[in-house]
Amino acid sequence: MSKVKNLGFDSKCVHSGIGEYEHGPVVPPIYQTSTFKFESAQHGGSLFKGEQKGYIYTRMLNPTIEAMEDAIAALENGHKALGCGSGMAAVHTVFSALLSAGDHVVCSEAVYGPTVTLLKTVFSKFGVETTFVDASNLDVIKNAIKPNTKVVYIETPGNPTLAIADLVETAKIAHEGNAQLVVDNTFMSPALQKPLDLGADVVLHSLTKFLNGHADVVGGIVIVKDEETYKHFRKTLNQTGGVIDPFNSFLVHRGLKTLALRMERHCASAQKIAEWLEAHPKIEWVRYPGLKSHPQYDIAQRQHKAQGGMITFEVKGGFSAGEAVMNAVKLSQLAVSLGGVESLIQHPASMTHASMGKEIRETAGITDGLVRLSVGIENVEDIIADLKQALDKV
Ligand SMILES: *Cc1c(COP(=O)(O)O)cnc(C)c1O
Repeated sequence: MSKVKNLGFDSKCVHSGIGEYEHGPVVPPIYQTSTFKFESAQHGGSLFKGEQKGYIYTRMLNPTIEAMEDAIAALENGHKALGCGSGMAAVHTVFSALLSAGDHVVCSEAVYGPTVTLLKTVFSKFGVETTFVDASNLDVIKNAIKPNTKVVYIETPGNPTLAIADLVETAKIAHEGNAQLVVDNTFMSPALQKPLDLGADVVLHSLTKFLNGHADVVGGIVIVKDEETYKHFRKTLNQTGGVIDPFNSFLVHRGLKTLALRMERHCASAQKIAEWLEAHPKIEWVRYPGLKSHPQYDIAQRQHKAQGGMITFEVKGGFSAGEAVMNAVKLSQLAVSLGGVESLIQHPASMTHASMGKEIRETAGITDGLVRLSVGIENVEDIIADLKQALDKV
């Protein structure tokens, strides 16, 4: 970490998590090793007892992974972070650490599809019950809380509807019910929203998306607020084993340095594209937190520094028209995932959210014709020209 205190966010992106290393490299080296030598039998024993700090085995802790974790903990204003092998490994780590048989979860219905499936198929087997709710409605969340509710889990903006939950109010409701608020902050990144500052207890990310930003890594991270929680989560992750590796950690740490810059472009371009789409005669509706037509426009202005790089829209003519657009785009690539430098377009009902089932999908507002666009950092004129030629073909 830099010797300069009170750095702004953009400076923190560049300098966080950078320690001092042998030979004085400016960039943290990649410790591509599975294990670390002890100086003596006594030294090994004391590391295992936790009497002194040091590295033992990469599943437990590794300097390259730790550097990336420290950087993201600093960006989220958290205490410490835990690097995981994927975003889903991060979700799994949090649920494994916080839940026991007989516990109850209140989960937003507009979350990443596999998160719904994880709760419905894996954690239900171990006696954890989940109620799925519209998290943009505070009364609905409040009414869903039971005496055994341990976790309120939300994504905001939700995926893919971009419905927004009020973090401050949701945290209050969770805490009144003695539950913890867990927030998946993947869609915003800490450049635009810091849930821990607004009352959340745990934040997680798919590193695969904006934080790495270059579509070349799968990874996840969990950020916690205090040492006791960190130790418990670290033990859980060590036991369940879903850690990230040193090389991917290095790539994520490299990607982080341009996070603030990339987010600026993602947001500026997405705003222009959302306005352009909203005025297009072949578009039924557009959802983007920077449009006045967004139902939670006011919360978005208060809760986000800027409005993000994700847009969803419905092409007039439903599923087949949406499909025609996806087959006609040339610059935007037809692929799942998001948050990279390249624009990506996809169809949640048949792709990312297919596994959650039509019923939950429809109550969550994920219509069959909904198309999701992850706006890249190309020239915005090029992205719009590409969408225009694609819509001309519908
Ligand atoms: C992609 C994604 C995940 C899962 O992350 P993986 O790295 O693919 O495992 C979780 N939450 C959100 C919001 C995502 O977009």
